[in-house]
Amino acid sequence: MTAYKGYLIDLDGTIFRGDEVIPGAVEFIYKLIEKQLPYVFITNNSSYTADLLIDKLTKMNIPAKKENILTSSIATAKYLKQSKEQVKCFMIGEIGLKQALKDENIVMTNQHVTHVVMGIDRQITYDKLAMATDFVRKGATLISTNKDLAIPSETGFKPGNGALTSVVSLSSGKEPLFIGKPAKNMIQIGLNMLNCKAREVLLIGDNYFTDIAGGIKSGVDTAFILTGIGQRRDIKSTMQPTYVLNDLSDYHLK
Ligand SMILES: [Mg+2]
Repeated sequence: MTAYKGYLIDLDGTIFRGDEVIPGAVEFIYKLIEKQLPYVFITNNSSYTADLLIDKLTKMNIPAKKENILTSSIATAKYLKQSKEQVKCFMIGEIGLKQALKDENIVMTNQHVTHVVMGIDRQITYDKLAMATDFVRKGATLISTNKDLAIPSETGFKPGNGALTSVVSLSSGKEPLFIGKPAKNMIQIGLNMLNCKAREVLLIGDNYFTDIAGGIKSGVDTAFILTGIGQRRDIKSTMQPTYVLNDLSDYHLK
């Protein structure tokens, strides 16, 4: 297998499952470090702050600094930062999104709102949804960290941010702009962080519909790893991943 110049690596189902590290993951990251190949962990989960993820990874013996972390919240904040216009956002989300917006000095307010920004919010209320809908109806742009409709939990699937966003989208009649995988926005920001071009990078992930589809759409090579949610039967014949791996120890770096 080719050594790529940079690696975009999903977390949930690829590196860890809950609080357990997936076999082969630690060794793989150490191989990247040994070869001085840059990596960015790229996760649609908008609820984590970079610091929380760094802590979690460090406990698993996986070295990570801020420059290695890209959540859909961080990607959303970076996306808004690039905007030419002055951004005043009404935010629905948890600490991960709030902190990411703060880190990029994005104004959060409910006055003269230009953007409604949505991430998963497990304390969501009818009032918040009503305010968001009203702002979008009055012309604010609807931006959403990710499209995930359902998220796995110990007790089954729960509504994901894509489902919450659909309420505001349906009530306002406006389509949201999604930032997280499979949208190209987040992958492009990941490439910028790696300082690499699309063709120089491998994206590794366990979700065919977000990681692999997003990677293919963005022109990066992909490794579909079968340690998480995805299964071989997900693969469409017209959209093949570059590699299919049983786990990360299957990937041999030259
Ligand atoms: Mg995953």
